[in-house]
Amino acid sequence: MNLAKFPRRGYVQTPTPVEFLPNFSKALGGKVNIYIKRDDLLPGCAGGNKTRKLDFCIADALEKGADTLITCGAVQSNHARLTLAWAVHEGLDCHLVLEERVKGSYKPDASGNNFLYGLLGVSGITVVPGGSPMPEEMEKAASALRAKGKKPYIIPGGASNALGALGYVACAQETAEQLFRMGLDIHAIIVPSGSAGTHAGMVTGVCGASVGIPVLGMNVSRTREAQEELVYKLVRETAELAGVNHAIPTSAVTCFGDYVGQGYSLPTGSMVEAVTLLARTEAILLDPVYTGKAMAGLIDQVRKGLFPAGGNLLFLHTGGSPALYAYLDAFR
Ligand SMILES: *Cc1c(COP(=O)(O)O)cnc(C)c1O
Repeated sequence: MNLAKFPRRGYVQTPTPVEFLPNFSKALGGKVNIYIKRDDLLPGCAGGNKTRKLDFCIADALEKGADTLITCGAVQSNHARLTLAWAVHEGLDCHLVLEERVKGSYKPDASGNNFLYGLLGVSGITVVPGGSPMPEEMEKAASALRAKGKKPYIIPGGASNALGALGYVACAQETAEQLFRMGLDIHAIIVPSGSAGTHAGMVTGVCGASVGIPVLGMNVSRTREAQEELVYKLVRETAELAGVNHAIPTSAVTCFGDYVGQGYSLPTGSMVEAVTLLARTEAILLDPVYTGKAMAGLIDQVRKGLFPAGGNLLFLHTGGSPALYAYLDAFR
């Protein structure tokens, strides 16, 4: 894999920290040592995982002469916020197509990421009902902009195509290098698994270089089967693009659907516990939609004794804390 041949904008200049969580590990019984990879500290307005993917996707947009980015997401989308933020940085317009996955959930004056859309000066927002075909909705927005003489470029939801997933192939390489330097032998890497670019990129990077650390995906919306299929499809596309010259087996993709609760973005008791516990032991903020549920999965599996005593776990913190401010009621 030679990722240097792909154009990128250089949004990620230095590795994000890998930190030990001594108090949090102790609070969970002290049988395993939990480490965290701080992608919540990535550059880009308020940080988070989409910066690594957008580094590649926006480079492609600029090569193709775009003057406007179009992307989609839920009403409190971190991806929409970061696409808009990097558009501002590049001097591009940005149009957002927001899917109201929970009926009545779009409130123009809501806090969290929604507030940031306005603050960052979004060019336009289209709200569509849950279940709408998002690629078609974005294509409609692109046609309307083209008719006005604009040059739009569509970035798929979560920037989770093979090009965007290269950002997490690079993250896997970066992480393996850090673990080597720290002399840290990790038993498993735990990642949130949503639109799948993060999970698929990590699997491709880890397996492509035969690093041999299992990557466990904690689902935030789908069942185990549906998510594993989605992730594996993207692993194959990403591996081909990255030039991995051996087949990655389906067994490299493992997902858990047990921590989603009632559905995407809907709070669960174990999410509230996870967010609160990490805040009170390490003063690190998770988010209610992704990392809170993923960490709830890690906590549950540690408590059930599914990891060997004395083992080291690495949790990938993908960001998202601005959404906390739209979920105050869940924490009261
Ligand atoms: C988008 C997002 C994820 C999920 O990443 P995918 O690549 O979409 O699976 C996880 N955490 C946060 C904070 C996110 O915004």
